[in-house]
Formats: sequence, structure tokens, C-alpha cells
Amino acid sequence: MPGGTDQTLRPFLWRAANLYPDKEIVSRTHEGIERYTYSEYDDRTAQLANALEAHGIEEGDRVATFCWNHHRHFETYFAVPTIGAQLHTINPLLPDEHIQYIVDNADDQLIFVDDSLAPKLAQAAADAPEFEGVDFVVMSSTETETLDATPYEEFVEGHSTEYDWPILDEDQPAGMCYTSGTTGNPKGVEYTHKMLWSHTMATLTPQGIPMADEDVVMPVVPMFHVNAWGMPFTATAAGAKHVYPGPSPDPEDIVHLIEEEGVTISAGVPTVWLGLMDYAEDNDVDLSTLDTVIVGGSAAPESMIRWFDDRDVELLHAWGMTEMSPLGSVSQLKGGLQDADYETQLKHRKKQGLTVPGIEFKVIDENDEEIAWDGEEFGELWVRGPWVTKEYFMRPEANEEDFEDGWLKTGDVVTVDEEGYIQIVDRAKDVIKSGGEWISSVELENAIMAHDDVAEAAVVGVPHEKWQERPVAFVVAGEDADTDTLDEEIMDLLREDYPKWWLPDAIEYIDEVPKTATGKFSKKDIREEYTDGSIVEGSVPEEAAPDDD
Ligand code: AMP
Repeated sequence: MPGGTDQTLRPFLWRAANLYPDKEIVSRTHEGIERYTYSEYDDRTAQLANALEAHGIEEGDRVATFCWNHHRHFETYFAVPTIGAQLHTINPLLPDEHIQYIVDNADDQLIFVDDSLAPKLAQAAADAPEFEGVDFVVMSSTETETLDATPYEEFVEGHSTEYDWPILDEDQPAGMCYTSGTTGNPKGVEYTHKMLWSHTMATLTPQGIPMADEDVVMPVVPMFHVNAWGMPFTATAAGAKHVYPGPSPDPEDIVHLIEEEGVTISAGVPTVWLGLMDYAEDNDVDLSTLDTVIVGGSAAPESMIRWFDDRDVELLHAWGMTEMSPLGSVSQLKGGLQDADYETQLKHRKKQGLTVPGIEFKVIDENDEEIAWDGEEFGELWVRGPWVTKEYFMRPEANEEDFEDGWLKTGDVVTVDEEGYIQIVDRAKDVIKSGGEWISSVELENAIMAHDDVAEAAVVGVPHEKWQERPVAFVVAGEDADTDTLDEEIMDLLREDYPKWWLPDAIEYIDEVPKTATGKFSKKDIREEYTDGSIVEGSVPEEAAPDDD
């Protein structure tokens, strides 16, 4: 046994509960808005720890959650790891087979599930041998109809609010999350206490996503997706007020919580903020308390950064991965750029940013050479650092492919500018190769989405006899769009910034861009659903062809 707490999670909560006992944790639930203090949270965490122990959960066991963002889910965040067990957050948007696979692979003993998600879990568990011996607790005070589950309040009731917290080894696994690949089963990533601790400390630096005790922090990013980007831990370490937006919050719920609770920092994927922007156009919205919005998971469009700037809210563009706990980089301005003009600053701010302290990286091109930091050359981003996983859970074949000499090969294709700002130009598998040259599908998508009448756009490469691949754009038009003229307007927009051979061969209108379980555009599904392996007949003028350039 070590002689004291090393880099483990318990001290973060100990400090918050003792220095900020009256600070609030607010949660939107099926049962309405609930609020209590850090002091009460600490007591309930101890009760849950005792309840878990009484249920037979021991050090090293895995306890899973199947939940949205709320206070009970947050209670599992500290209770499970700080007794030495491991919190496995399951993404409820995964297909049933994947859920069965990961429950079996992780060997989960107990699953906490939301009332509204119980039917989905019941469906995945029905006749599935993977679920044998797994118990359920439903996150409410009453029973649920679809699953044989103990209500959470009954589970913790009567247990002591004192717990003799063990001194844990910092290498003890604390968390776990699965990442979905394009093919095959999801891959598990284990987070040790030390990884989560170092991730928290790096996030809190001025180069990361700094938070103070007077902040009001609302993670909209789901707690089943890489621990809501670690925010429940960072907000606790900072002693900030927490706000959890509950089951499937819509823009109105999010705005309401910002206004009522005085949210200062919030985080989510671009679609969350696009929804809010849309809502704000038609409704009276007060964002005056909001200082910072963190956007990650997919690229933040430039128009979004400008929109928030106009309302005096700083948009920080962050990049990360499940394998990185998840934070890798943030688009913080370097000191030397603070006095630069707005457009120069924006040029850097719209990139994925500077790696946070503790992360090392290199970028390897097709010839296994490191690229120049000139904002032009590109290659695959490799990273390493204390909170970057060194392997997948029980997946030796994936380890061989994705790790080399302690580096994680991210699969992201990037440029790095003279200042060290990283820009993701694509996923390695989504880069479009036309006539031996590369076209960034991500850049085209962002440029198309900058059009006011475009709600969403995804660009994929389709096979072409002469050019190997050509880009085709799949566009979701805005409500008031006139699709007769939109094609030409989009092409005009693209012509301003891109060579002719980058322009899509076709623009196809679709109702919705298919998404992965983590809300990213699913290029695989787009290809499967909308292309048959040949060029899509589109409405775009001939001149888009690369040969007339
Ligand atoms: P996940 O493990 O599901 O969080 O997915 C990680 C991947 O999401 C990264 O490897 C990137 O391809 C993508 N990603 C994350 N953040 C960003 C961002 N800010 N801009 C563009 N892509 C991003």
C-alpha cells in the first residue's frame, strides 16, 4: 500500500466538499430540476459507495452506466472509481450487437440505466447471453416498466454517508469507454486514476480549458462520451457549480438552463450549437452569463465562431479522442497573437489548436517522414502523453495497427502551421484522392456549411475511372432554401477559395446526414446509402471536372 494519495480522483472531491460545501449541483431529470450542494453530493457519493459494496462490488470490478447527464450519473463518476472499481460508460446510441459485445468484453457486473433508456437496454439484453448475471439499477426513485431493476433511491437508501475511502494505486483503472471504429467491434479504452488526474490538471491550465470556482459549468456533451470530455472531474477540481442538462436536451432546454443557472462555460459538438444558433434566431435568448463555449468532436465552422464572437462569447475549438481521455488540443491564442487583428486571430482560432501541456506530437507523411510545419504539408498525427492510452482493452490486433513505440496513431490527417497550430484536414480514410492529389472533405464541408441556406453538408469521395476518386457533396438544405439556385451559390462560394478540381462533381440534397453513435457524420453510411460505387449524377456544371484546370 502506498503511504498517501497519489494521482487519484478522491482528493478533487474532498477539496470541493470541504472548501465549497454550499456550491450547487443542478440537474434536469425526468422528475424535474433537482439541486443540492457539494456537501450533500459528497454524502450521497459515500452512500452509493456503501451500497455498491453491499451489492458485492469489489476493487477491480466494472460497473456500467447507460445514462444521460444528471446528478445521479455524476454520483457514479466519483463513487465507483474511488472505491477502486471501474466506471464503464456505455453509449446508448450504439446498435444492440455492439452493446452486447461491450458488456461482455468489459465483464460488467452492474448497470445503472435511465428510465427513458431502459427499453433500449432491455431490447439489447433480451435473450443475450452476454447479459447473464448482470444486475440493473434504474436512475429514479421508482421502478421502471421494461426492466427488472432496483430504483436508485432504494439502492442507496439507508446506507451510511461515511465511507472509509481506500488509498488507491494511481495505476488502478478508474474508467472505461469504447470507441467505435468504422469496421468491426468497438475498442475499449481504460482510464487509470493517473490518466484522469493528469488530464484534469492539464485541462485546467490556461492553455487548456481553464475553470475557476466562480464558474458555472454545463457539459452538454454526453457523459457516456469520454466522461463528457472530463468536465465533471475538472469542474469538481475547480470547485465550480455544475449544471447537468439531463435526457436529450433540446435547444430550448439548453438556453433555459444557461439563463436560469447563469452558465459560464458549456461544451458540446457542433450540432448542439447549430441548434442553439437556430433557436436564437427566432427567440429572445439571453447568453450574457456565458463566457466560453467549447466545441469539439467535429470541426467548428468559422461562421459559428463569428456568431458567438458577435455575442461576446468565446468559442474554444478543441480536438481530442476517446483514446486521449479525450483532450489533445485547444485553439487558445498564443501570447504573440493577442494583439493581432481579428482575421489573423480567426485564422488560428478556427484550427484545432495547440496541444495542451503534456502532449507530444509528430506528423508522419506517406513516406514515413515528418512533415514541415508550414500549414501546407500534411500527414497522420501521432501523439503521446500521460493521458493517452497505450493500448486497447484485449485487442492485440488493433494495438499492432494503431500504436508504435509508445505513440498513438490518431488516424487524423493534419497540417501544422509555423506557430504550431494543428488543423485536421481529414480522417485518413476519408481524404479524397483525385488524380494523385488530395482533397480535404472536411474543408469542403465547412465551406459549404458556411452558406446560410445549408443546414449540414457531408462530402465523400466516389470512385472515378480517370481520377480514382471525385468529391460529391450531400447537402441538407435549410428550411427556406431554394434548391434551384442553391447549387450555383454553393459552387460560387467554393470557387472563391478552392481550385476547380476541388469542386464537387455533384451536389445531392438529402433530408439528414447519417450520424455515428457519437454524433459524427457517418461517411460509411453515406457511401452505403447514397452511392452505388459509381459517380452520382448531379446537377453541377461540367467545369468542376479536374481536367480543365
Ligand atoms: P472520438 O474518439 O469518438 O471522440 O472521435 C475522435 C475523432 O473525432 C478524432 O480522431 C477526430 O477525427 C474527430 N474530432 C474530434 N475533435 C475534432 C475537431 N475539433 N475537429 C475535427 N475533428 C475532430
